[in-house]
Amino acid sequence: MPDRASTDLRNWAGNIRFSPSSFEQPATLDEARAAVAAAPRVRVLGSGHSFNTIADTDAVMLSLTGIEPDVRISALDGTVTASGWLTYARLGAAVHRAGFALHNLASLPHISVAGSIATGTHGSGDANGNLATAVAAIEFIGPDGELRTVARGDEDFPGSVVHLGALGVVHTVTLDLLAGFEMRQYVYDGLTYEAVVDHFDELTSAAYSTSLFTAWGAEPAFQFWVKQRTADQSHPFPKANWYGAPLADGPRHPVPGVDPAACTVQQGQTGPWLERLAHFRPEFTPSAGDELQSEYLIDRADAPAAIEALAGIGRLLAPVTQISEIRTMAGDDLWLSPAYGRDTVGLHFTWVSDVEAVRPAMLAVETALAPFAARPHWGKLFSMPIGEVRSRYPRMGDFEKLRERVDPEGKFANHFSTAVVGGAAL
Ligand SMILES: Cc1cc2nc3c(=O)[nH]c(=O)nc-3n(C[C@H](O)[C@H](O)[C@H](O)COP(=O)(O)OP(=O)(O)OC[C@H]3O[C@@H](n4cnc5c(N)ncnc54)[C@H](O)[C@@H]3O)c2cc1C
Repeated sequence: MPDRASTDLRNWAGNIRFSPSSFEQPATLDEARAAVAAAPRVRVLGSGHSFNTIADTDAVMLSLTGIEPDVRISALDGTVTASGWLTYARLGAAVHRAGFALHNLASLPHISVAGSIATGTHGSGDANGNLATAVAAIEFIGPDGELRTVARGDEDFPGSVVHLGALGVVHTVTLDLLAGFEMRQYVYDGLTYEAVVDHFDELTSAAYSTSLFTAWGAEPAFQFWVKQRTADQSHPFPKANWYGAPLADGPRHPVPGVDPAACTVQQGQTGPWLERLAHFRPEFTPSAGDELQSEYLIDRADAPAAIEALAGIGRLLAPVTQISEIRTMAGDDLWLSPAYGRDTVGLHFTWVSDVEAVRPAMLAVETALAPFAARPHWGKLFSMPIGEVRSRYPRMGDFEKLRERVDPEGKFANHFSTAVVGGAAL
């Protein structure tokens, strides 16, 4: 979380220094509406976990965290309506207490719900859409300070959920709930590259959510994380090994050398979804802490070939890669979702925190993945030309029209969103 009291306002990774003309933290919804109406341009800061300039602005930066949190669960509708600025950790705890579950979490629960949805943030699981696919309705403060709700079934809905912060200030989101469930998590060490490429579908479909971790190099080996719903009797017992890769003999952290105390419980101990779906526990620093990240989302049909292409540059990647993660997600119909229209595989890189050292590796990854029409994660670092990124979204033109209609003067534009989806001439 950036230090809001300081004028040196930065993102979580510290690689972006925000440069707003003012930082405002309204204490009520009415104050937030008034602030939006009065501002020439405005951008909301969520929990600041994006690695690029998507949250930055040279105008008014707004944080909604001063507003009293609101969580309303409707057992009848199977939904929760909550303040968008809440983190998944806080929202998840309330949902769990009420006996319900969210369908998925990202690797960390520290991130805000609205910020995550805005960027198409995802967890893993062949049948699990990204986090935005749980949205049933989203309530925006519009450029005039008026509230506007877009709900599933509305014409504007598929364009409005993953919005890069360009369609307004999200006040509340309504998310679909599942009945609460228990899970157990297993980790396997040392899965070979051949096993991953030859048996990719079998591995990723082995449980509700799976992840493959590797640090690349000349002969990449993979750690295989399996998050199983306890009631799922298709795999009632853990396999002793996967293609020779044994069950880990203790808890693991995905980043080599980091204390696994920061990770959710493994070794098959049953526990609630909230304490298994994410990799990292809310009370600890997630991931390596000192890092940069990139991620590229491809059609899952291309996954074995894309992994092969990355293995081909494995020696170049290893010195700047702390860890890479491969995850799956179901395709969706949300216009700017990186999983739009195709079942998707995410190829993620936790880099060392040295932009200059990382740049050539990022470029090499983008070149290696060029044949696969990769879509970069909206909240992470990439160097592909924006025109190329735009061309990967068939509904980009429709999104621009929607943005023009709901925000004709570009009040919610910043440099990042203007480059991608048009808006104010900045
Ligand atoms: C350690 C770490 C691990 C990560 N793991 C994952 C992962 O597992 N999967 C994954 O997909 N991503 C992951 N990410 C990336 C992260 O999920 C995204 O960057 C996400 O957008 C972060 O949410 P945030 O609230 O911090 O957003 P911010 O970075 O604060 O903002 C992102 C965008 O959302 C907009 N926004 C935020 N709140 C609002 C609002 N109320 N109204 C309107 N617009 C708003 C901002 O203006 C900005 O455009 C990870 C990041 C880190 C640092």
